[in-house]
Amino acid sequence: MKITQLNLREVKIPLRFQFSQSNNAGALHSHSAILEVHTAEGIIGYGESCPRTYVTGEDIAAVQKGLQLVSPEIKGASIHSIEEVEDRLMQWEKKGIGPSVRCALELAFLDAWSKTQEKPLADILGSKPPEVISYSLILPLLRPASLEQLLPKIRHFSPPSVKLKVDAKLEETVNKIHLIRSFFGQELPIRVDVNGGWALQQAEKIIPRLIEQGITSFEQPLPAGQREGLAVLSQRFGKDVRIMADESLLSLEQAKRLIENGCVNHFNLKLSKLGGIFSSLKVYQLAHEHGIPCQLGAHFGETSLLTAAGILLGGMAGDLTAYEGAMGAFLLEKDITAPSITMGLDGRLDTQENLPKAGLGFIDEAALQQYTQAPAINASQILSSLKSNIKR
Ligand SMILES: [Mg+2]
Repeated sequence: MKITQLNLREVKIPLRFQFSQSNNAGALHSHSAILEVHTAEGIIGYGESCPRTYVTGEDIAAVQKGLQLVSPEIKGASIHSIEEVEDRLMQWEKKGIGPSVRCALELAFLDAWSKTQEKPLADILGSKPPEVISYSLILPLLRPASLEQLLPKIRHFSPPSVKLKVDAKLEETVNKIHLIRSFFGQELPIRVDVNGGWALQQAEKIIPRLIEQGITSFEQPLPAGQREGLAVLSQRFGKDVRIMADESLLSLEQAKRLIENGCVNHFNLKLSKLGGIFSSLKVYQLAHEHGIPCQLGAHFGETSLLTAAGILLGGMAGDLTAYEGAMGAFLLEKDITAPSITMGLDGRLDTQENLPKAGLGFIDEAALQQYTQAPAINASQILSSLKSNIKR
C-alpha cells in the first residue's frame, strides 16, 4: 500500500442535545479531526480523533501542526504490514506528534490497509469482540430542571447502566440520581464522572454521601495533576468503590506513575487521548498485569469510526468493565458513516452485525462534506506552502 495523499478535515456535527461536563460547558457540536489517507491503489482510509484542549491540550491546529511534522515521511511511503504501521507511529511519536494525531493516523492507516486487503480489521488485528456489547448511557452535567426536561425525551431507553456527569453541588446530584432512577429503575447502576471538578476536601465529603446513594464508581474526582490527592481517596474509599483515572491517564508513562503511587484502582481507556488502538492496548496490558481493571471510554460526539475502533480494542483487551460510546445517531444530527454504529435503546449492540466487512466504516461522503469546516486541510499542501514561504 503506497500513500499518495493526506487530507485533514475539521468536522463539526450538531448534537441532538447540548452536552456539558465540569471541564467543558454547553457543547452544541461534535468536534472531530477526520484524516484521509489516499493510496496509489485508489483506496481512501479514514481515521478520527477528538482533540480536546481540556484533555490532551490539543486542538485542530495542533493536529495540523503534528501532521506537518511527519507528512514528508508519509507521502510516498509504502506500507507492507500492520507491524510496520505501529513501528512508524512509534517513530513519529518520538518526533513529537500528540495522541490525537497518532490516533487519527493509526486509524486511517488501519482502515486503508483493511480495505486494500479486503479483510475485516478484527481478523487483521486478532480482535475477538464480544458478540453483544452493552453500552452505558452517558448523561451530561445539567441542572435538575434541564434533566427533568431531557429524561422524558429519552424515556424509551432502557440502559444497562448510566454514567452521570456531576459537579460539586451534592444535593442537586442526589436529586438527579433519584430522578434518573425514577425513569430507568431503582436498581440502575450509576457511575459518576467528575471531570476533575472536586477539591480533595469536597471529594472526601461527597463520596460517602454518594456511596449511600449506591454510587460505586467515581471517575476523575480531582484535577488531572493531583495524583497525591487521588491516592488519598483510593486509600480511604478504594476498597469499596472505583476511583478511576481519566484525564490523569494520557500515556503509558502516566499509567506507570498512577500504578506505582497507588493513585487509582480503575482506568478509563479512550482511543483519542491515548493515541489509538495499539497504545491503548499497551496501557490495558500494563494495568492488567497490576490488577487494575479498565473500562472503554469515549469523547462525546465521536462518530462511528471511533466506535468501531473501540469495539476492536475491546476484542483485543478482553475484559473491559464497561463500554461507553456508540451514541452515534442518538447524539449526532447525522453520523458520517452509513450505516451508523449506534447502540439499541437497551444499550445493546450486536458486533457481528455492526462491524464493517472491511475497515472502520463506509463513509457517507455527502454527510462528511456537509459537516467539514471549510477549508479542508491538505497536509502536503500546507507543507509546500510553508516551504515556498521560507524560500521567499
Ligand atoms: Mg471522563
